[in-house]
Amino acid sequence: MIKEGVAVVAVSEGEFTDGAEEEVRVPAAPRSGPQSQATASRSPHTETTPSTAAAASFDMVVIGAGPAGEKAAAQAAFFGKRVAIVERRASPGGALVSSAGVPTKTLRETALYLTGYRRREVYGLSIHLDPDATLDRLMNRTAHVQAAMVGQVRENIARHQIEMVPGTGSLGPNRTVVVTPGRTDAAPTTLHADIVLIATGSRPFHAPDVPFDDPDVYDSERILGIDRIPRSMVVVGGGPVGCEYSSIFTSLGTEVVLLDSGERLLSFVDGEISRLLGATFSSMGVRLVLGSGVGAVRRADGELQVTLESGEVIRPEKVLFAAGRAGNTEGLGLEEVGVQIDARGRIVVDEEFRTTAKGIYAAGDVIGPPALASVSMEQGRVAACHAFGIPFKETVDPLPPYGIYSIPEVAMVGLTEEAATRQGIAYEIGRGWFSRNIKAVIDGGTDGLVKLVFRREDRALLGVHILGDIASELIHQGQAVMHERGVIDRFIHATFNIPTRSEAYKYAAYDGLMRLERRAGSRTAG
Ligand SMILES: Cc1cc2nc3c(=O)[nH]c(=O)nc-3n(C[C@H](O)[C@H](O)[C@H](O)COP(=O)(O)OP(=O)(O)OC[C@H]3O[C@@H](n4cnc5c(N)ncnc54)[C@H](O)[C@@H]3O)c2cc1C
Repeated sequence: MIKEGVAVVAVSEGEFTDGAEEEVRVPAAPRSGPQSQATASRSPHTETTPSTAAAASFDMVVIGAGPAGEKAAAQAAFFGKRVAIVERRASPGGALVSSAGVPTKTLRETALYLTGYRRREVYGLSIHLDPDATLDRLMNRTAHVQAAMVGQVRENIARHQIEMVPGTGSLGPNRTVVVTPGRTDAAPTTLHADIVLIATGSRPFHAPDVPFDDPDVYDSERILGIDRIPRSMVVVGGGPVGCEYSSIFTSLGTEVVLLDSGERLLSFVDGEISRLLGATFSSMGVRLVLGSGVGAVRRADGELQVTLESGEVIRPEKVLFAAGRAGNTEGLGLEEVGVQIDARGRIVVDEEFRTTAKGIYAAGDVIGPPALASVSMEQGRVAACHAFGIPFKETVDPLPPYGIYSIPEVAMVGLTEEAATRQGIAYEIGRGWFSRNIKAVIDGGTDGLVKLVFRREDRALLGVHILGDIASELIHQGQAVMHERGVIDRFIHATFNIPTRSEAYKYAAYDGLMRLERRAGSRTAG
């Protein structure tokens, strides 16, 4: 049986009476634009421990100041609600700022800049770096960007006049949230709310047989405190986090072995893109071991040993486990108030993000996949709108883009070829290779392509898959056309700046048209 708090998030976590001091059902006039730059008229945000009954009553109390919690709170506050966020960490921003998107992407950019990685051959430069100085620069830059992002989250919370309540939140009866302060001598406080939103996120999953107490065995959070750039590393997990870190450390000169029990990297992306990414990784020097689980990780005779199912023993300096996330549900008191979790330990919600307990909502990683900051934010906003009947955001975008910030990047939106086949759709594809794209040839990043998947019958765009530099930016053009239910001709008739990587869309569309014609031709000939 799965207990609270041990769910693996695949990608990669009563009775009530009104306790609020006022009941607000009709959306009030907005205080400022949603997440706008306007400054607050009330006092700036303060971290408080509400002590009076009035101060402890809110329209909404959010547990967790990560992307889902912050944006849900800001959305509700924007429409005039009195909102508090309970956060157990010293800073708001959640995993996005502390251990996930912001630090990994900063590490990636800094590593690419410092090492000139993948551009050395273009300019005939060879860069030799002092590993200690490099690590210092990487970590300093990451800390600088994190501090800037925490500042932005704090500003947003202040601008929306949201009360920050430091401490660990748990659910009490009658839609209350009990806040236990970090200080052991301080007494818990109780907040009353019309609506409670659980946005407690996730943390790295720790398989019980992995020695995470070994100083050289890391998870995706602790890796940010790595003490040196290692000569060798085994990365376990070929999902987004494993692929990102494998390529970052390879760019820094580490010999990386990337293991996954599945047959391919990034199991959810288009098969062709996955294969091409694997080939690029191999050409970069990453050793891929796919289709083989890890038998054991242990320290013997002073060295780390990773034994594969094949019996092979690898002796890396460091091991990074990047396999799965666990929802932060333990200690919340879900069962006591009637909030159900599913077989994988994720909080069960309906399409409006309502849990099984009246007045209690949940959003973000704690409800399961896709476990992206981008989607978590939207879930938070949509949940807040439904909770208060605000006619602003009804659903989360059904076409979210995925960006994987490996080197090179991968991005996708919509159907893969495999999904189109499974759905019985008669589809065609078109490819625009970066090796033939002027901008990519100029900057030397010629790996990859823009790949379109479209319906044969009417050329409706069904999916876009990109491998290559700035894929996570380029994907939005395809997403925009899909939002308009557009056809691939849209790219053929548009004028693109030259030189740009975007132009690859046009040639992918031409390729698609030619394939359609060839298909029609072979039918006629046949
Ligand atoms: C290495 C890595 C890289 C990633 N890169 C990207 C990316 O590039 N783009 C992207 O979109 N997504 C990325 N993600 C995913 C993204 O970080 C998460 O989807 C996102 O942070 C989830 O937001 P959340 O608000 O649900 O939870 P979290 O960000 O986990 O925030 C939850 C907050 O709740 C607090 N909390 C938990 N329990 C309690 C409690 N009982 N009381 C009070 N506070 C509590 C926590 O301290 C935390 O601040 C990445 C993830 C990882 C691991």
